[in-house]
Amino acid sequence: MPAIASAEGCWLTDEGGRRLFDAGSGHSCVNLGYAHEELVAAAAESYRRLAYCSPDHRSRPVMALAEALSARLGGGYRLRYAATGGGANELAIEIARRFWRHQGRAGKRRVIAFDRAYHGSTGAASYASGPGILQSPMVDRSEEFIHVPGARDVMAGRSRGLEEIRAGVEAAIAGAGSGTIAALIVEPVAFAGGVVVPPAGFLAMLAALCRQHGMLLIVDEVINGFGRSGAWFAFQHEAGVRPDIVTMGKGITSAYFPLAAAAVDERIFATFLTPGHAMTKVITMAGHPVGCDVALKVLEIMERDGLVERVLRHGAGVLAGLRALQGAAGLREVRGVGHMWGLEFDSAEAAEAVDEHCLAAGILLLRAGNLIRVNPPLVASEAELGLLVETIGAAVRGIG
Ligand code: PLP
Repeated sequence: MPAIASAEGCWLTDEGGRRLFDAGSGHSCVNLGYAHEELVAAAAESYRRLAYCSPDHRSRPVMALAEALSARLGGGYRLRYAATGGGANELAIEIARRFWRHQGRAGKRRVIAFDRAYHGSTGAASYASGPGILQSPMVDRSEEFIHVPGARDVMAGRSRGLEEIRAGVEAAIAGAGSGTIAALIVEPVAFAGGVVVPPAGFLAMLAALCRQHGMLLIVDEVINGFGRSGAWFAFQHEAGVRPDIVTMGKGITSAYFPLAAAAVDERIFATFLTPGHAMTKVITMAGHPVGCDVALKVLEIMERDGLVERVLRHGAGVLAGLRALQGAAGLREVRGVGHMWGLEFDSAEAAEAVDEHCLAAGILLLRAGNLIRVNPPLVASEAELGLLVETIGAAVRGIG
């Protein structure tokens, strides 16, 4: 494919002048679309006012964003910033381990994660990712991470119910001993792993297990967050779930600045405020004031334009349109929620054929193996979403 030269709204233009609909929002991050003048202006203004601020000092955008995000999460969270989603997950895992050490329980170091999870490409975040899903091969840290079966075996095409998932987590806890486990990390919807939409009650069940066994619940909202699932944060679909740590990135700035964060419940964070327990880690570019100003502008636009409601309004129709294709051309199952949909095929060849057909028709999808993932910008119009469903439909029917 030729290099991408420019982009506007939901459309990329390559160096040959060909336009492509970006059904993957870049790398699942350009939620408000390209060339958004208000975001460009917010960044430019912020650069002129305060182009950088050391993490040793405080600045208005950094504090204002922390407050705004805590409020969006339900209140009572403190923010630690990072520059990447993987970095936010690394922070979360370190915070969980330090928390237990401060309680005199240094043996609680292991982390439970799911087999189709993706949490980042570096260090601990890569090991928390499912086996074979981009784990760093350089140092073997697999003993620290215990992977349990999630809601879907996408190779065998088999879903697991709540009780089966619970039994897997309980077996892992019994096997390792809860005295060795610091946290459980989970994506509400495992996106990279195949848009695995769990059964209702999944997070509430995990939250209860975490409480029962003394593990912190880390919810990875790096892709799911900022409206993508049809709620500000996907964990908010389930009443009564309050994660100990929520990680976020990508859509936080709609990709107009590399910024990420771990929001930590104040009750956990309090241990770091006691003498000798401060978390003195410094990440030079984390919590950059320009990124925070852009993120504040993203929140303002999302609220003003009702983007979360818009996702709910549009999402169900797209899901129904795609579901109608199930059964054709080896399309085994279509899953989705909000503005993210996954097409699971019987084989990688079937998925590739559909992907190529769509690319030839001007639609750029995200494909890996037998899965196609679709998550266009939240600002896509009804006509653009209609075109997307129509083009995928023509591809599936044409091949089937
Ligand atoms: N967590 C989830 C759920 C992700 O999907 C990703 C990236 O795709 C990450 C973490 C890592 O984010 P980053 O690539 O910014 O490190």
